[in-house]
Amino acid sequence: MESRREFLKKSSLGLGALAFPNIFIPNTEKKLHVALVGLGRYAGYMADGIMESKSCTVAGLVTGTPSKKEIWGKKYGVPSNNIYDYQNFDEIALNPDIDAVYIILPNALHKEFAIRAANAKKHVIVEKPMGISAKECLEIIAACEKNKVQLAVGYRLHFEPYNMEMMRLGQNKIYGKVNLVEASLGYKVNPDPNDWHYKKALSGGGPLQNLGVYCVQAARYITGEEPESVTAQFGPVTNPNFKEVEESITWQLHFASGTVATSSSTYNSGIDRLFASADNGNFELSPAISYGPFKGRSPAGEFNFPEINQQQTQMDELAKYILNEKPLPLHITGHEGLKDMRVIDAIYKAAASGRRERIVS
Ligand code: NDP
Repeated sequence: MESRREFLKKSSLGLGALAFPNIFIPNTEKKLHVALVGLGRYAGYMADGIMESKSCTVAGLVTGTPSKKEIWGKKYGVPSNNIYDYQNFDEIALNPDIDAVYIILPNALHKEFAIRAANAKKHVIVEKPMGISAKECLEIIAACEKNKVQLAVGYRLHFEPYNMEMMRLGQNKIYGKVNLVEASLGYKVNPDPNDWHYKKALSGGGPLQNLGVYCVQAARYITGEEPESVTAQFGPVTNPNFKEVEESITWQLHFASGTVATSSSTYNSGIDRLFASADNGNFELSPAISYGPFKGRSPAGEFNFPEINQQQTQMDELAKYILNEKPLPLHITGHEGLKDMRVIDAIYKAAASGRRERIVS
């Protein structure tokens, strides 16, 4: 039986391949200087994580809210000449104090700012979902390749020990073939009807875009396979704020091996769990996807891994590659974001058509 340590060592390529904690000798001379774009709720978690990190620092801020310039500038020690708004953002190209731009805007704004950051010759880190369609992901990838900058998606769970254990147990068939995955995430969304999550032009869609991407990820990283087709159903609308985007959606991913992964993502109920049923036993996490603390078990017993600062760990791992000018491992790059968005495009298509739809690869 392959141990967790062996799995971490081996898995340098492909889906679920995990960053090696010590593969490169970190360049300790320099920290990765990161500018955060969009100073909202998650940017606050990320800024705090970066402050805890060994290899990164918050070097720049980009905001459309003038009052945040002083408040965030003071809090994170960012000088005023490294603070931008959305109009003068492109001037970041002239700022040698910034290496990478982390885009934490509403989903439908990711593409524009990722491309502008790439054109400014800054490495790009973009929150999930990478774009709001596979087409957008391809445009972002093309811009990063053209400008020879690295592109990462904010897949924090690829560095999180409980989720890494689910990857190891599933991909290595520790309990045999995984036949069924259930992966669901939901929470009650902000009741303010002006919240961007209700507006398709900003969100690109409902909980499938925001939360479902984690479930698609989990189905792929537990099985280590790519789904071939999907069936999907929109849920009922119980809240009148949901005029433009779905309130909830359920889908089934069908894999060539016969495995099925069933998921729901919803803005009207709380759920946060991953469950894998394999030939010789089941393994699961709940909570699984939020910020922890996580709980999980397999036939070997309760999981017992250290609780980590997910944002700090993600950024320290990215910095090891970017600072050492090594390509990021594929499983956290735009290519991974593109695979997820191809699945999400097909889920929306299947929910609308009522038919089983193939996932374009
Ligand atoms: P928030 O609404 O809290 O913040 C978004 C920020 O974007 C705003 O504060 C604002 O910052 C800026 N913004 C620019 N234009 C607009 C606009 N038209 N409407 C609203 N805000 C605008 O959202 P979150 O921080 O929750 O989400 C941001 C991104 O992060 C999303 O893509 C989401 O999916 C992702 N996310 C990832 C998580 C993870 O665990 N990886 C968790 C939560 C979110 P400013 O005032 O500075 O201009």
